[in-house]
Amino acid sequence: MARILITSALPYINGIKHLGNLVGSQLPADLYARYMRARGHEVMFICATDEHGTPAELAAAKAGKPVDAYCAEMHEVQAELARGFRLSFDHFGRSSSPENHDLTQHMAGRLKAAGLIAEVSEKQVYSNADGRFLPDRYIEGTCPNCGYDRARGDQCENCTKQLDPTDLINPRSAISGSTDLEVRETKHLFLRQKAMRDQLRDWIRSKTDWPILTTSIALKWLDDGDGLQDRGITRDLDWGVPVRDGTQPWPGMEGKVFYVWFDAPIEYISATAEWAHAQGLGDAAWERWWRTDRGADDVRYVEFMGKDNVPFHTLSFPATLMGSGEPWKLVDYIKSFNYLNYDGGQFSTSQGRGVFMDQALSILPPDFWRWWLLSHAPESSDSEFTWENFQASVNKDLADVLGNLVSRVTKFCRSKFGEVVPEGGETGPREAQLVADLTNRIRSYESLMEAMEVRKSAAELRAIWALGNEYLQEAAPWTVYKTDPALAAAQIRLALNLIRLYAVLSRPFIPDAAASMMAALGCDDWSWPDEVTAALTRLQPGQPFATPEVLFAKIPDEQREDWQSRFSGIRG
Ligand SMILES: [Zn+2]
Repeated sequence: MARILITSALPYINGIKHLGNLVGSQLPADLYARYMRARGHEVMFICATDEHGTPAELAAAKAGKPVDAYCAEMHEVQAELARGFRLSFDHFGRSSSPENHDLTQHMAGRLKAAGLIAEVSEKQVYSNADGRFLPDRYIEGTCPNCGYDRARGDQCENCTKQLDPTDLINPRSAISGSTDLEVRETKHLFLRQKAMRDQLRDWIRSKTDWPILTTSIALKWLDDGDGLQDRGITRDLDWGVPVRDGTQPWPGMEGKVFYVWFDAPIEYISATAEWAHAQGLGDAAWERWWRTDRGADDVRYVEFMGKDNVPFHTLSFPATLMGSGEPWKLVDYIKSFNYLNYDGGQFSTSQGRGVFMDQALSILPPDFWRWWLLSHAPESSDSEFTWENFQASVNKDLADVLGNLVSRVTKFCRSKFGEVVPEGGETGPREAQLVADLTNRIRSYESLMEAMEVRKSAAELRAIWALGNEYLQEAAPWTVYKTDPALAAAQIRLALNLIRLYAVLSRPFIPDAAASMMAALGCDDWSWPDEVTAALTRLQPGQPFATPEVLFAKIPDEQREDWQSRFSGIRG
């Protein structure tokens, strides 16, 4: 049994995520966690809401709520949706937790002691009306290049020119609209990433099993142009982790907080501490996952994220952990994703374009979405959600292949043998062939799941389902029954066992349907089919079952068209 630590990139707190976000890290991480648990490994699966920073403050202000209350509320909304999609986190934490305050301040103190923090004076725009410094993107004005009057302080959206806030003509606060701005001097802390380049390069080069894409992105940031730059880790904001040197004050940094990028990944660790504390366990319970001097050296740590997060997780976060001089567990494998597009364009949170997690669950059960999203995960390239493709995939894979098999077998058995596993008869060469075919495909499914090849795993699972249908088609127990009822009984006994086998294999993808299949069989044996022949005799003659309801209702054309138009425009 191995110990596997799995983290999913943290969803930001300000609003409900769309399906593209979901398939970009949380959902495939859940698939992997569920699979590893099914194989008997000890898993710690961690995610959390990322709650600090200016966007959270502004979203709270827009909602007319104090930022802490807003974050508490949105955390609950996101946690509820995660449960709705059956994301099986061991803990879904909050980056604003006391644990994360303590650990973030601890890390900063350690980095300071190691000489890896620089104090830098900067000039920054201060808004008198708002009573705060403004981050570059919260300053608006006229673009000096193209004349667009809503250019942001970091970039003009119209002509894409990179800007400094002081380049803008007639600058104003994007928060209040005030033009009463001045440039003030302020002091910030920088993480001296440049000083850690060699250490980071050696570490990345040692990761020979990483996809070339991941390693090349990291090395590019490390070495291209001026190479890896030192990075500010503090901000002049109210909402966040107050800057402290461990448990001590940090002179000159009063009233400042750590920048959200610094505290967010530390929350992977802190959320595990939150888990331990919520279970009434001591620190040793989480440290054995994260401290190599306290038991974590045999942990395999896998991170899931969108490709835009790769530089950060290969450079900045490891720099924090290594720089602390403490034996923190570093990532062993990074699984990153491209983007999911929506019906000829992009999903967009700001424009409300696409299907959002709450909307998805309001129209269909989670398994429908899980199956489509995972079987079309944007792995080697971007992929696209279209309603036609979604409908076809649900109707064919789930309803025609899996659902139909379950329905045919249980209904036929009920009509000829009653709702019990039939006894008698001996299976023959066709059944032996099925076992051989299943064994080959299941072993292949296992390797693909181990390798986190999400789409290929889904394709293999579909092929495993299809083997059952092909078998039934050829064996045709409904015909055999007329001449050899004992053989038909043996075939149906095998087929009922096949349903249990499919529940076990399919559970990481479609947990609710798997649970329904297992419950219908009156069984709770989720043991993995290490040996297929044995796995197909778990249900013994005489065991009662209940013919299940329709597992997957097909999506009719009118319904698809209705959803297509409902979700074509702006979210209401
Ligand atoms: Zn411009």
